[in-house]
Amino acid sequence: MMNLNEISGQRQLTFMEKFDYIREAGTEAEEKAAQTIQRELESFGVDSHLEEFVFDTWKITEAEFTVTQPYEKTYRVAGYMRCGNTPEDGVEAPFFYAENGDPISLSKAAGKIVMVNFPMDAEMYENLVKAGAAAFLTITGTPIDMGEDLNPVERNLRGVADTPIQGGIIHHADAIEMVTNGACRARFKLKQELKTVKSHNVVARIEGSDKAQEILTLTAHYDSVPAGKGAYDNMAGGAIIMEICRYFRVHTPRRSVEFVWFGAEEKGLKGSQAYVGAHEDELKNHQFNMNVDLAGQLVGGTVLGVAAVPQACTALENMGWEVGLGLRTINGIWGSDSNTFAWKGVPAMTLNRDGFGMHTHYDTIELISPWSLQRSAQLLGYIADSLGNAEEIPFPRTIPEELMEKLEQYFAQ
Ligand SMILES: [Zn+2]
Repeated sequence: MMNLNEISGQRQLTFMEKFDYIREAGTEAEEKAAQTIQRELESFGVDSHLEEFVFDTWKITEAEFTVTQPYEKTYRVAGYMRCGNTPEDGVEAPFFYAENGDPISLSKAAGKIVMVNFPMDAEMYENLVKAGAAAFLTITGTPIDMGEDLNPVERNLRGVADTPIQGGIIHHADAIEMVTNGACRARFKLKQELKTVKSHNVVARIEGSDKAQEILTLTAHYDSVPAGKGAYDNMAGGAIIMEICRYFRVHTPRRSVEFVWFGAEEKGLKGSQAYVGAHEDELKNHQFNMNVDLAGQLVGGTVLGVAAVPQACTALENMGWEVGLGLRTINGIWGSDSNTFAWKGVPAMTLNRDGFGMHTHYDTIELISPWSLQRSAQLLGYIADSLGNAEEIPFPRTIPEELMEKLEQYFAQ
């Protein structure tokens, strides 16, 4: 039985304080964070190494939107990544608000810069292209936003292969102003380029005592989106697995436990994909991946997204009952690095605590609670300790076919 008293929430919070900056993947800030993780491991006697990988990412170099008639004003705009470049001087065309992009509204969209409401998914994009739009804008934010929240944030255009038209994001308040003032002509310019950048996974292993050939992984991404410092998403996860690593350093489990801090999760699970590639030969020995993504805020509940057989959910719920810490399970795929393991045939879960402010500038350490960190590390530590020391893993090492189909679709995007 795990000794829960050895898990400290305050120590996790102190560790998290070292990451009070934006850690976008592929930047020096992300690399600095990797080194800080390594130093922490070294401080309690665990060796680690960096596994470097590269990936391609879009960088927007210019995004500009100006109403040209009946008045002239340049508005704050963010660009959609993955939809290419406008001509050198931009697109100048009539401006038109097509609300939710219904067929009646879109019948008037040909040749125009068309503003629509969120969401901008593949279907909406294709409808705009079919309608002959010259470019598009979507509306973000709310009428009660103030200060920094008035700045729209870059987004990815997902799920489309052909990108004949380019788009941007405009704030709600500006959308109201433009329509109210009768904006009827505008110019939109977008430039972006594909760049190859470098990121790292931090890897540390606690060798098992008598079933060392069987491997469990405890994982969390340490990169953040460019918009925020990513305390809740996901340095809290990084702190939770660090605390469990500290515990296992002293209380060696029977199975080997590999700890991985992934880079570039926010760029599309790049770190975990690099990891399963680099460790392909060994994956057959992997029994279960325990990932954490989104944690550390006090008000919230714990959900385990479990990509494995339903029996695994039951086993995990039983562990929750044993340790007296609340959780619910969802048997399905999850939008985080656990998906990568499941896709490669390794049963996997992500521990997720609900909270506020993901992917925004509100995601800071001020909202993180040692009480919450302690509970999550105790719960995940108890699960890892139980599985690490069990005679047999209490569920088969298979991924149900319907989940595998969803994973194939997920990674085909
Ligand atoms: Zn995350």
